[in-house]
Amino acid sequence: MTIDLSKITIASARKSLDAKEFTARELTDAYLEAIRKKDGEIHAYLEVWENSARAEADAADKMIAEGKAQALTGIPLAIKDNILIEGRIASAASKILGNYHASYDSFVAEKLKAQGVVFLGRTNMDEFAHGSSTENSAYGPTKNPLDTTRVPGGSSGGSAAAVAGNMALAALGSDTGGSIRQPASHCGLVGLKPTYGAVSRNGLIAMGSSLDQIGPLTKTVSDAKVLFEAIKGHDVKDSTSLPDYSSTKGGLSTGSGRAKRIGVPRAFLKEGVDKDVLETFEATLKKLAAAGYEIHDIDMPNLPYSLAVYYIIMPAEVSTNLARFDGIRYGLSVEAPTIGEVYAKSRGQGFGPEARRRILMGTFVLSSGYADAYYRKARQVRELIRADFSSAFMRVDAVALPTSPGPAFKIGEKANDPMAMYLEDIFSVTANLSGVPGISVPAGMVDREGKKLPVGFQLLAPHKAEETLFAIGEQVEKNSA
Ligand code: GLN
Repeated sequence: MTIDLSKITIASARKSLDAKEFTARELTDAYLEAIRKKDGEIHAYLEVWENSARAEADAADKMIAEGKAQALTGIPLAIKDNILIEGRIASAASKILGNYHASYDSFVAEKLKAQGVVFLGRTNMDEFAHGSSTENSAYGPTKNPLDTTRVPGGSSGGSAAAVAGNMALAALGSDTGGSIRQPASHCGLVGLKPTYGAVSRNGLIAMGSSLDQIGPLTKTVSDAKVLFEAIKGHDVKDSTSLPDYSSTKGGLSTGSGRAKRIGVPRAFLKEGVDKDVLETFEATLKKLAAAGYEIHDIDMPNLPYSLAVYYIIMPAEVSTNLARFDGIRYGLSVEAPTIGEVYAKSRGQGFGPEARRRILMGTFVLSSGYADAYYRKARQVRELIRADFSSAFMRVDAVALPTSPGPAFKIGEKANDPMAMYLEDIFSVTANLSGVPGISVPAGMVDREGKKLPVGFQLLAPHKAEETLFAIGEQVEKNSA
């Protein structure tokens, strides 16, 4: 049978694989063929692993034949280039790690291997996950498959483009300030940033260690749930990993009952959102109200400081995390007469402009004399933002916000204006700063130059309450179907 890649989901593929309507090998071959045809233009992948993908598919078919299939057995996935798979290059789309082969499996890769998934390849991203458009990759930009003059969002833009372009059934990304949710929004996908600590960061190339989480990019909410369930869990090798918890048992702040109260921090929505994006957001809220949800205006007075706080804390952590790339221990090493020059030359040639900018910002806000004024102050305000969420969740089960202030923008439009690029993150960084889980679900289209572009609806829930996000997310999905 011919497989219509534009229609299948993890859920439907699972049924077809188990019913032997097609094999994992046929499904994998269909994706490899699609990649061969389309990825020359889109550039979602930095590397495609044809041979090992076929071998993994054959192994999955064997598992299925033996009745050992699990939820993701034989499911072809794309993996962001900052997630380690033993023996594979993981470059974080940087020149400095261009030839770095991972010496161990990340926790998530280990989990997925145990399920018998098929890894199709590693996807393009902003270098070290710094960005919102995938234009900061050292290996050239990725195009949005829905409109190739536009960016797919970032930094997990390659993962989003692979799924939206039907070149993978689902993908993993990482989200430090929005990098799963914003590309999901721009590509018409579902993107989940789990609760901080829900998914181990062991084997994720670190950006901002107090903010980073790995999560799924999928076509449906139920697929996001399946992939999240597969990768979450306690890991002794990550000291910030949470004890195991069940995301399917609610976790509502209110104790019993279905999540039904959604809070909207209206005062925060005045910040430079496109008019039609705001209208789409309001229309989604109306439909949720019609479906029985209560919509409440809530006050979260510290949210407007989120972006400023993020752009102090994140670069501080980036500058320390990138210090290990010194030309000695990992990756690119430029020969020079003194050790100081080896550092300077390797880092100078290995890092792109945005990574260098963030190292400089981070070093500055941490430097003695400025650390109190910037870094320490930002950490204090971060606590106020967390407190805003804690008090909001005493009154509501979830908080709703747009995912990003506009739809996918043109390639090149913001590339030379870091401030404009940083403003993309205004609604997404709050989840990372407070550690709460967030999801972006497609909810409507807006018109740009005669093209319809998708817009995401973002929901945030209390720590460990992913189930609330899935429940309301599925309602949003139903409403916009
Ligand atoms: N766009 C944000 C940034 O540039 C978020 C990146 C991310 O989540 N990795 O920092």
